Amino acid sequence: MTNYFFSLIRTAVAASMILLVSTTASAQHKIAIAAHRGFWKCEAAGNSENSIASLREAQKAALWGSEFDVHLTADNKLLVNHDNTRGGKEIELTKLSYFKTDEQCRLKNGEWPSTLDEYLKQGQASDKTMLVFELKPEKHRSEDVLIRKSVRALKRHGLFDPSRVMFISFSKHMCDVIAKKYPAFTNQYLNGDIAPKDLKAQGINGIDYHYNVFYKHPEWVAEAHSLGMSVNVWTVNAEKDIKAMIDLGVDCITTNEPLLVREILGSKELFQ
Ligand code: MG
Repeated sequence: MTNYFFSLIRTAVAASMILLVSTTASAQHKIAIAAHRGFWKCEAAGNSENSIASLREAQKAALWGSEFDVHLTADNKLLVNHDNTRGGKEIELTKLSYFKTDEQCRLKNGEWPSTLDEYLKQGQASDKTMLVFELKPEKHRSEDVLIRKSVRALKRHGLFDPSRVMFISFSKHMCDVIAKKYPAFTNQYLNGDIAPKDLKAQGINGIDYHYNVFYKHPEWVAEAHSLGMSVNVWTVNAEKDIKAMIDLGVDCITTNEPLLVREILGSKELFQ
């Protein structure tokens, strides 16, 4: 089974080892940066999470990845938004038109929350930034519909490719479905409560855990790597935590402060 993310990182390590045989693998371990909800914390994005502008800024900065969250509305339309509510209404129980017409739904920068199609149109603009696609758990319905519709949308935009998109989810069921149906894609479980070996046994090829989970279980990084799994960490914004996660040897740092992580990583930053 190909694990795109893992093989990319190993290739970068192998290349640097050939050039610098005397340095250790860890010294040359390259680490990717994923902008959490896009590179939103800047003037150009109007401090608007999950906005089209935040994805554009992540692409402009050539960040390795840009994360975003996807829900399904009551009329089965895919909507990019973090919380399961917007404008005081539950997305799963509300039709798309509400989120596109009620003024209180607007993002800070004036954008309306985007449909997945609108968002992926911006995603097509650069192949240098991986789309880190968070499949949001469903409370009231089968989660398989959200996955099926997401895959269809990605295909429509020519983005259903392990080098262009990867999946993350707090829903174990969603990770299980991706593992079974689309094993070539990087597929990271978010909830932090399962050891890498137990996920691997079920075909899930990555973890994306809160940094406190790695403070508690630093051994999970090496365990995941020994199993060929990729390791991502969220949401790391403070300098001391960024440095600690770099020292642990994670593969990707998900952050609201991509330029700070870039500055700390220096030559260790991984690019697509
Ligand atoms: Mg998210």
